[in-house]
Amino acid sequence: MRITEVVPTYLSVPLKERFWMSLSPIGGIEPKVSKLLLEIRTDEGVTGTGEAKPGGAKSFERGLAELLVGEDPLMIEHIWHKVFAVTHTRTGAKRGWDGSGILAALAAIDIALWDLLGKVSGLPLYRVFGGFTNTIPAYVTGGYYREGKGIPELVEEVQGYIAQGFNAIKLKVGGVSIPEDCERLAVVREAIGDEIDIMLDANRAYDLRSAIEAANAFAQFGIRWFEEPLHWYDDVRPLRTLREKTNLTIASGEGESTRFGCREMIEQGLIDICQFDAHKNGGFTEWRKIAGMAAMYHVDMAPHHEPHLHGHLLASIPNGLILESFANPARDPYWPALYARAPQIVNSELTLLEEPGLGVEFDADFVRRHGTVIT
Ligand SMILES: [Mg+2]
Repeated sequence: MRITEVVPTYLSVPLKERFWMSLSPIGGIEPKVSKLLLEIRTDEGVTGTGEAKPGGAKSFERGLAELLVGEDPLMIEHIWHKVFAVTHTRTGAKRGWDGSGILAALAAIDIALWDLLGKVSGLPLYRVFGGFTNTIPAYVTGGYYREGKGIPELVEEVQGYIAQGFNAIKLKVGGVSIPEDCERLAVVREAIGDEIDIMLDANRAYDLRSAIEAANAFAQFGIRWFEEPLHWYDDVRPLRTLREKTNLTIASGEGESTRFGCREMIEQGLIDICQFDAHKNGGFTEWRKIAGMAAMYHVDMAPHHEPHLHGHLLASIPNGLILESFANPARDPYWPALYARAPQIVNSELTLLEEPGLGVEFDADFVRRHGTVIT
């Protein structure tokens, strides 16, 4: 079997509202959410479909697909390394393929190749990966800082998630002072009771001293984990001090671009939960190597975003903890509309479909309305 054609589509949907994390709004100051969809076609008529963060689109505009055409699509590790090599040879510079864009493109390529392998084998991917379960817990992310909205709207929002059946909710922190965040958390905890898990995501809001103060202040609200507490410029090594001086479970890794960044966190015992995002960087191939290492260090995997993709990964490992999801169409217009077929989340659990590969089909109309095919 050979790859005959690669069809990338850049997808972008504007958001009507700014959803602030601690330091920045989703999609930038003119908010939008974008994606790269990828179809890999073969001479045997089987097609693999992948999706990733949009950073890889530019590389495809500049001819990245030529690396794939003619390759055997089932030689996934070979193709992975061929594309990855662009990041550490002159090839990329000569063609204007930048390193971080390549890692996002590689995510789409790798996921599409695995989808294709699943289709060829007639098995859903979680079974191709060696199946551990087919039902995985899922939480909902919300509690963004919304312009003109305050604590009453926050309470209404979290109550809406509970009405949808969620038993775990992740809230944003770090966008206001620590006492103000404590006030938000106190009201939410009071409103939802003690049975619902609350996780906190600081999106790199704090320096070390503030992170320690915040973790110790937030602990009273029964927090399941504290995510990405530290500013971007030094967000790994000081986790040790944070862990020595606080009791919260620490989650991080969504910002890591390779297994080597995760190695540091895992090997040094700096995190309890690894959040490496296969659809942002490197795809399933990279993610599974990290999950294997994490298992050896008693670290659980709870990947960032995309439950319909990461579901297959978590369902195939013993240290798969929980999936992230979004239940507000104003924040994530894709989940309810991009997919003609996708696994559903019911009562805070995602059950994978038995269709071969990812089991996902895009809604052609939605893609036509919001997508541009890259030629
Ligand atoms: Mg996060």
